[in-house]
Amino acid sequence: MKFSTLALSDEMVSNLDKIGYEKMTPVQAETLPLILEGKDVIAQAKTGSGKTAAFGIGLLSKLQVKKFRVQALVLCPTRELADQVAKELRVIAKFAHNIKILTLCGGAAFGPQLGSLRHGAHIIVGTPGRILKHLNKETLSLENLETLVLDEADRMLDMGFIEEIDKVLEYAPKTRQTLLFSATYTNEITFISNRIQNDAVSVKTVSTEVKNSIQERFYETKNKVDSLIKIFSTFKPENIIVFTNMKVVAKEIAEKLAQNKIDALAIHGDLEQYERNDVLVQFANKSCPVLIATDVAARGLDIKELSMVVNYDLPHTEETYTHRIGRTGRAGAEGIAITLYDEYEIENAMEYKDEFRIFEGSEALKKQNNFEMKPQNVTLVIEGGKKDKLRAGDLLGALTGENGLKGSSIGKIDIYDRQAYVAIQREFIDEAHKKLSNGRIKNKKFSVWVL
Ligand code: ADP
Ligand code: MG
Repeated sequence: MKFSTLALSDEMVSNLDKIGYEKMTPVQAETLPLILEGKDVIAQAKTGSGKTAAFGIGLLSKLQVKKFRVQALVLCPTRELADQVAKELRVIAKFAHNIKILTLCGGAAFGPQLGSLRHGAHIIVGTPGRILKHLNKETLSLENLETLVLDEADRMLDMGFIEEIDKVLEYAPKTRQTLLFSATYTNEITFISNRIQNDAVSVKTVSTEVKNSIQERFYETKNKVDSLIKIFSTFKPENIIVFTNMKVVAKEIAEKLAQNKIDALAIHGDLEQYERNDVLVQFANKSCPVLIATDVAARGLDIKELSMVVNYDLPHTEETYTHRIGRTGRAGAEGIAITLYDEYEIENAMEYKDEFRIFEGSEALKKQNNFEMKPQNVTLVIEGGKKDKLRAGDLLGALTGENGLKGSSIGKIDIYDRQAYVAIQREFIDEAHKKLSNGRIKNKKFSVWVL
């Protein structure tokens, strides 16, 4: 569909044509009619599908250029994304003269931002922490805000920006259009949408209708740890939960895997609450690919994309089985559920036989030479948290500021009352550690260590 079918000005359409946007991408075709009607929209679409132009055309169309006030605010998870969005908006904004678009991000000097703000702007693009700082200092006003956009909302939630976003919203007028864009659609997204949007229309251009597909495989084995390693080597899953029926076994498996160069952590009865938390955080933020757990221990663990579940022992009931394997293969991605059983469990295992489940001997599994499993990230712990008024934005700012790390090398940020955890891509861990322990966060020194 062509942009000319929409209620857009001739100037807008002709500029889109000039910049090579001939027709709408699917997410634009589905959201723009709603956005132009003034509706709140929550849109899920893959990366690279043209979401920026979808909200960009929307917010620019209703901009009153002559009124030199901030009318639109776009929140992004990182400085790089904010820069990209601002760049694209500037291109689309060429349909009119003098539309001012300003980026406000952490990790950049505050002073020059004040100067730019004093000159005024129509549109602000930035990261939640820095925007909040300007709002608190009253160097930015949202009094005339018409459109609020949360871009990459799922990433912002992952990076722990929820509190900042809530606080930013306290400064925004109640009557406004709120647009929420995300690459994934989770419960947390629905939750935040319910809170900050009004009768939001939800648009999904990636079909999530596809049934969760879980490949279920069963292996008879005489040596479960050996089979476990071969399973990882054969299927190359990214993240795995291995369920055991007994907690004493969990620790033992983790140790044996570690001896075989497979990074694994276990949650078992001997752990203190804080140790348990350390383990769950590391697994969820990709600092450890394998988690060994009992059913009770794994409760409350919310992982969106688990590529494999292993039943190290046959579950006691089929209900437990279904519950365990349901953690993989979410949102249309294929998951693998593997169940191991030994000669004592054969009889029970046979009850699981049906036309879809694959039963094989463990000799079908192969171990590749020098096979090892290393995590994508390493976790930094900061001895400071909510009680110290530490926010995700402060940490992100401290890490990315002044020749710092790229936003893309920083993963999930979890902030608790007295501690904060930041996942850092393994290659950059030393740099990140130095940056945080030598520098100051919110003008304070915090101790920082690698988990
Ligand atoms: P997303 O935010 O969904 O990941 P982007 O908004 O960054 O994707 O868009 C990806 C690329 O597609 C950008 O280079 C953008 O300029 C281009 N693009 C967006 N809409 C159109 C269109 N209608 N026609 C051609 N190219 C487009
Ligand atoms: Mg985008």
